[in-house]
Amino acid sequence: MLATDLDGTFIPLPDRADNQTALETFRQARAQNRLGLVFATGRHFESVLAALRQHALPEPDWIVCDVGTSIYRRAGAGFESYAPFETLLAAQTRGADRAAVEALLGDVDGLTLQAPEHQQRFKISYDSTANAAERLAALANRRLQEAGLPYVCLASIDPFNPHGLLDVLPTGASKAAALIWLATHADFAPDEVVFAGDSGNDFAALTCGFRAIVVANAPAELADEARCELARRGLERRLFQATLPATSGVLEGCRRFGLVSA
Ligand SMILES: [Mg+2]
Repeated sequence: MLATDLDGTFIPLPDRADNQTALETFRQARAQNRLGLVFATGRHFESVLAALRQHALPEPDWIVCDVGTSIYRRAGAGFESYAPFETLLAAQTRGADRAAVEALLGDVDGLTLQAPEHQQRFKISYDSTANAAERLAALANRRLQEAGLPYVCLASIDPFNPHGLLDVLPTGASKAAALIWLATHADFAPDEVVFAGDSGNDFAALTCGFRAIVVANAPAELADEARCELARRGLERRLFQATLPATSGVLEGCRRFGLVSA
């Protein structure tokens, strides 16, 4: 089972013909049912579907998306939300979903709800000005805490169109946490998983004990820090640092771990 980040990892880089060749190898392995596939990405679900079409990616069995607040399973010609994961988040948030968060934060000046495709039952996303993002996140976190809602607000700045992005997520929700849960509650097991990633938000999944691939276009410190973290637990052999970037690096690692033959 290959579990992979998309941007910078499984999606071919624009100027790399070898990435396209590697992607074709993955398509063939999928067509012949030789490889399980999980996408684990910060993208929202619609954006994952757009990437599937745009890059002609092979269809995965599972999609972990929305910053680890939703999991989709392949069903027929499409995907459906995986109900056991929704049940888990409902239990973790003690039944407080987006309605409770929206009611609590609805009157905060400067917070605007993002478009519906960015929203999930357990992910409530707002826009703000870039300057106000940190202050508004602190205010939101104070209110969430006072109300006893088990959610946190995380602020970031959109690098493409500078403004504030504020995600309100269940406490502890992350891409890695969702993937680790999936690997222990679906029809595969953690020791079958090889995870591939390229950036800081992949660190937890790279070091949680799966066999792992860091692609060559990742920052050098990511592989170094992941190796140190694994070595501390005697697990450094689980990490493979690819010599090739993105899709080609993922394929190189899959061959190394015997997931894809020659
Ligand atoms: Mg990435």
